[in-house]
Amino acid sequence: MTDARRPLVAGNWKMNGLTADGVALAKGVAAHAADAAAEVAVCPPFTLIGAIGGAIGSGAVVLGAQDCHTASSGAHTGDVSAAMLADAGCGMVIVGHSERRTDHGEDDALVRAKAEAVQAHGMTAIVCIGETEAERDGGQTLDVVTGQLAGSLPDGSDAANTVVAYEPVWAIGTGRTPTNDEVQEVHAAIRQALAGRFGDDVADAMRILYGGSMKPGNAAELVALADVDGGLIGGASLKTEDFAAIIDACG
Ligand code: PEP
Repeated sequence: MTDARRPLVAGNWKMNGLTADGVALAKGVAAHAADAAAEVAVCPPFTLIGAIGGAIGSGAVVLGAQDCHTASSGAHTGDVSAAMLADAGCGMVIVGHSERRTDHGEDDALVRAKAEAVQAHGMTAIVCIGETEAERDGGQTLDVVTGQLAGSLPDGSDAANTVVAYEPVWAIGTGRTPTNDEVQEVHAAIRQALAGRFGDDVADAMRILYGGSMKPGNAAELVALADVDGGLIGGASLKTEDFAAIIDACG
């Protein structure tokens, strides 16, 4: 983390949360975020976006979503567009999470089209990339991650409309993480690739989050790494105290 980039702590609630608990969690996060140095976002399931938007009001927390369709509207039963999310008050949308890539067969081209839709509607795309355990064991991590980055980021990406989240698939929800050196190695490779494509100014300003079993106990050391600019948090974002402790560690 450098002073030039404001850290971001984004909570990915995944398919969790009913109204009462979600609203209580969001209010707790909002109360804590009011004094936070880090920017804070919560990404509830689609069903709660209206309720959580109401709970956090126009304060310090950014409302986010976990996915969107590439089109603005049309015959796509069950899908939600970026236009709808912007209209509902979202400022950020996660795209390309490994669970979407695995469960729904999303490839880099689709992720890129979703990120384009997010950007086109004035929001920030949190674009997720990361290697599987087999790819790490096979020594392919940097190739896989930089390949996903190249394929998933739209040409018009900049530090305002894009955040990259490095999430090793094998670290998500498992309690396992890469070593700090391994995390920094990947983040540095991502920033170098960003510089090669978008130039040094964009690369220096764009935030690269780490995600995958980030907890209160390891957040401070992860975010202290030179190219880690916050976290995308799954499980620990569902408990106010844990998420608050991570926000503090990233401030
Ligand atoms: C995630 O799914 O984005 C994530 C990082 O999950 P967890 O924190 O639970 O590993």
